[in-house]
Amino acid sequence: MGRDGVLKPMDAEQLRENAHKMVDFIADYYKNIETFPVLSQVEPGYLRDLLPHSAPDQPESLQNILDDIQAKILPGVTHWQSPNYFAYFPSNSSVAGFLGEMLSAGINMVGFSWITSPAATELEMIVLDWLAKLLKLPDHFLSTGQGGGVIQGTASEAVLVVLLAARDKVLRITGKDALGKLVVYCSDQTHSALQKACQIAGIHPGNCRVLKTESCNDYSLSPETFEQAISTDVASGLIPLLLCATVGTTSSTAVDPLLELGKITKMKGIWLHVDAAYAGSACVCPEFRHYIDGVEEADSFNMNAHKWFLTNFDCSALWVKDRSALIHSLSTNPEFLKNKASQENLVVDYKDWQIPLGRRFRSLKLWMVLRLYGLENLQSYIRNHIQLAATFESFVTEDPRFEVVAPRKFALVCFRLLPPSHKDEDCSNQLNRDLLDAVNATGKAFVSHTALSGRYVVRFAIGAPLTEESHIIEAWKIFQEVATVLLKSLKMNHTRPLN
Ligand code: PLP
Repeated sequence: MGRDGVLKPMDAEQLRENAHKMVDFIADYYKNIETFPVLSQVEPGYLRDLLPHSAPDQPESLQNILDDIQAKILPGVTHWQSPNYFAYFPSNSSVAGFLGEMLSAGINMVGFSWITSPAATELEMIVLDWLAKLLKLPDHFLSTGQGGGVIQGTASEAVLVVLLAARDKVLRITGKDALGKLVVYCSDQTHSALQKACQIAGIHPGNCRVLKTESCNDYSLSPETFEQAISTDVASGLIPLLLCATVGTTSSTAVDPLLELGKITKMKGIWLHVDAAYAGSACVCPEFRHYIDGVEEADSFNMNAHKWFLTNFDCSALWVKDRSALIHSLSTNPEFLKNKASQENLVVDYKDWQIPLGRRFRSLKLWMVLRLYGLENLQSYIRNHIQLAATFESFVTEDPRFEVVAPRKFALVCFRLLPPSHKDEDCSNQLNRDLLDAVNATGKAFVSHTALSGRYVVRFAIGAPLTEESHIIEAWKIFQEVATVLLKSLKMNHTRPLN
């Protein structure tokens, strides 16, 4: 508060003092992160009774608020950065990412057009060119050509904007009335983000072809199945629009064959979007780069740097081959945003590459990550997780009570506990549900599940920045102990006489 009684909300010295306290608080949080149950154990609605029913009239001290965070908020947090976090996919933080996020919050500009903060636009272009080169993406994805990269918030936004671009590119030729004829292709392993994008983009619900995958193909999309679907649709007078192929599917990290699929999309004039939200990070290692061979034929490519590339949420990198398609679809030009640089077409205005107008300075954190760590450290970070996953996989295969359900490619192990009688699928599914619930209830590990070929499967995803070998050894012990208890009680129930 100033001497005149007027709030001074951005006083530099107050920032220095309070931000130091906050950094100390966060550093202590990381120091003690293993003392919390990794999956929050609170009940729904737990917070309402712990906090006042209305906002305060008078200021409170930072210390009081930090005390509340410790006592009331942290119990309701699931600790994604805990070394015992193995659920979904990781969502990395790092010191570098944190510093970038902090700087972005500090500068707090809104960089929708070049003029609103030239550095924000230009750094984003440069950093995405850097990352494209690390991934050995084709030159047409670089900002120096017809395409370029842009940071979206999430992979869901990335697939939505490319679907809109692809849709409008076709409708400009066919006329808007053809909207009902456009067909979007994916596999039954594609992330539900595509379905949501189709709903928003007005794709007829009957025209989303969810093509079946098979366990014998490791759940990857078969080019023959794709080609057949196209032929059937074309014969019915429909217009194939876009294929969303995935490198590293959410359920089992399956990899769709981009080379073969890309040949088909190129021949048929279908937009190929590659969703490598999770596994894209691994492709900075030469030995894993082959998973995106064929990306040369793609129209767009997406990876989430916030998943497994040490860049704090959110930072979803999207590259497009033809930026004009995005701009055609998403640009607006109201009087109040007009400026010389934009009018003269000298600059990139990222507002025309995304849904919202406002945008944060997200490239700072990716830039920090790339500069403070360097490629070699990032590669060994990824390799270490993949090695840990191989170790965990060997634990599973060595215990005959369990089976690995899908081949491991990256740092996700999909497995299940076998029921005593190998025949009953319902029993097996319930057993694995119980296994997952019991492991998560310990608070010592957090895992999630999926369904593969109708079977309930446990997903063990390694990738939190603090995870070490000791953590996966401990987690496996918990799985084994819980399995022993569950199998014993199953046996007892089986032998108990019916009354
Ligand atoms: N695509 C894949 C393969 C994913 O695994 C995920 C999330 O895990 C998504 C898309 C959606 O990601 P986002 O939360 O960034 O929209």
